[in-house]
Amino acid sequence: MSIPRRRPLVAGNWKLHHGLHASEALARSIAGGLPSPCPVEVVVAPVYTALATVAAALRGTSVGMSSQDLHWEDRGAFTGAVSAPLLKDAGCTYVLVGHSERRQLFGERDEDVRRKASAALRHRLVPIVCVGETLEERERGATLDVVLGQVDAAFGDRDASALDQMVVAYEPVWAIGTGKVARAEDAQAVHVAIRARLTRMAPEAAAMLRILYGGSVKPDNVVELMQQPDIDGALVGGASLEAASFLPIVQAAIARA
Ligand code: PEP
Repeated sequence: MSIPRRRPLVAGNWKLHHGLHASEALARSIAGGLPSPCPVEVVVAPVYTALATVAAALRGTSVGMSSQDLHWEDRGAFTGAVSAPLLKDAGCTYVLVGHSERRQLFGERDEDVRRKASAALRHRLVPIVCVGETLEERERGATLDVVLGQVDAAFGDRDASALDQMVVAYEPVWAIGTGKVARAEDAQAVHVAIRARLTRMAPEAAAMLRILYGGSVKPDNVVELMQQPDIDGALVGGASLEAASFLPIVQAAIARA
């Protein structure tokens, strides 16, 4: 059976970094450093306050924009929250959902992640659903139980048309921001298990679903990761904060495309 051709996606998660000027400059440098047309989809996720500025800087380029989070309600008495319609209004087409920093630092539970993914889908934002095990879970051999449990919570009982509009990011928690990257073959094995789980629900959509790897992806480790058949791109934190380190990661994904 031939491997379906999935268009790689490289997303830069700027986390709580870069104000208006730095965000705009970085967006322009990234867009200006890509080939045209670009065989890889590239997306950046600035802080909320920079979304409109970055959207303006990216207009007419091939680079898309993601939010780092959203609330599941559209409007109401939810102080501090930002909803899917507002993110669309600001120019987002993607949204990160269930990033491990949201799960660990802000107490986000699987059911919250599911509601957020549903809100994104309702408003035609593509949720990038983040899943991953902690070091303790990995060491006691629970990686697949944890990761597939998170996948089931976010994806279970959705129909194939929803799956077509979603992306998964496998991000082992112990690899995020630590400089420790998963071995490419270990990441590939988890990606295969995620795809197999979703194949039970919707075989064709699962075959086309993009599964990104995230966790200390850098220019010097990305090539091996991108050579894995089920790693369809990367979710990049630290190395996405400068065009000089982000663009070589995109180049490695282009080489795979
Ligand atoms: C992330 O923020 O999703 C991430 C993977 O960060 P880093 O690349 O810095 O590990």
